Amino acid sequence: MGAHRTGRVASLAAIALIMTSCAAGGQDARVGAAGPVTGEGRSTTAATALAPLLVTAREPAVPFKGSDGTFVVSYELTLFNATPLTLRPTTVEVLTPSGTVIDSLDEGEIAAALALPSRRTGVQELTEAQTATLYLSPEFAGRSDVPARLDNRVTVTAPGLPPEGVTTVAAPVSVSDATVPVLGPPLEPGTGYIAADSCCDSIRHRRAQLPIDNRLWLAQRFAVDWEQLDDRGRTVTGDDPSVPGDYTIFGKRVVAAAGGTVIHVVDGLAEQAPGALPASITLPEADGNSVIIDIGSGLYALYAHMQPGSIAVSVGQRVARGDLIGLVGNTGNSSAPHLHFHVMDGPSPLTSEGVPYVIDSFETTGQITSTAAFDQFENTTQPLPMQATPSDGTHRDELPLDLVIVTFP
Ligand SMILES: [Zn+2]
Repeated sequence: MGAHRTGRVASLAAIALIMTSCAAGGQDARVGAAGPVTGEGRSTTAATALAPLLVTAREPAVPFKGSDGTFVVSYELTLFNATPLTLRPTTVEVLTPSGTVIDSLDEGEIAAALALPSRRTGVQELTEAQTATLYLSPEFAGRSDVPARLDNRVTVTAPGLPPEGVTTVAAPVSVSDATVPVLGPPLEPGTGYIAADSCCDSIRHRRAQLPIDNRLWLAQRFAVDWEQLDDRGRTVTGDDPSVPGDYTIFGKRVVAAAGGTVIHVVDGLAEQAPGALPASITLPEADGNSVIIDIGSGLYALYAHMQPGSIAVSVGQRVARGDLIGLVGNTGNSSAPHLHFHVMDGPSPLTSEGVPYVIDSFETTGQITSTAAFDQFENTTQPLPMQATPSDGTHRDELPLDLVIVTFP
């Protein structure tokens, strides 16, 4: 490749020569010659070609059962363009250790799954030194179908690269055999609860990586923003969407999804006006009036955005499952009354990793048709568009997936 090309086409061989121009002269000719695909996990001593994309995995990947009945393994790959070329990812494959392709993403699917730190989606190319995160969630019919590790291959093209592109084989992602925590509902019994921005492709939660203390954190990976429909399918029961108290879920009781010890309480922050996110808010105030409970096994549960003065627990207090925590409000970084709930592996909602969990018993009665539809009608007095799903009915030990409509017992 490369030698016969002319003009300004930047072949990988030419790039390799530029990038090695300070190396011993005799080395240059070999670098960039056609050779085996190399990758972080599989470099061979015979490697003689550049693999222009570096791929690293965020671990661990913990399987859990979603409310569609499948077992999901959610993890992220970090893609780094280590060349001056503009790279276009064309194929992403997830494989078992024996080489069976479980999941294969084409260019359109990659663009939807790839995001920059702004969470902007639709990324189709990576320019020199650009880094992006690929959010993957392969599904398996049964827990025993989930292998102990997952391999990942990413193929990129660029002008001057071979037409078939160059493939990077990432280091394997180990799949944890940890059992996920089994929780109760975080809200009082009721119907019409919406699991908004839940797993696995929610832009607002899943892609909310934060750079703090010299690394990226994704505490909200499996967060849910719980809202609620009234018996006419509306999130706004009253007649004024700018009034928190007119929302169906406002004032509903937030209850402990698991027993534990209260380690953090914020109270006294005023309600925000629904309809838009507050113009200026500090990071510590983002969760509004909130409670963090140490639920054991190194895990912590966050309950956020509750009403001022409604917090019913104090730091150091032991709570049992089902105990009152507070009342649903619209405080902090919130544009509509809701309960933000997630489980994380540390006490800080900023510097921890979000971990999956399941709820031991709930029903589903359909789902909102799309996030776009949800966003369109969330702050209106109109009914939200709903549809039935094949998995509607009783659920045991599953995580309510994005936009399902839930009844808590
Ligand atoms: Zn949230």
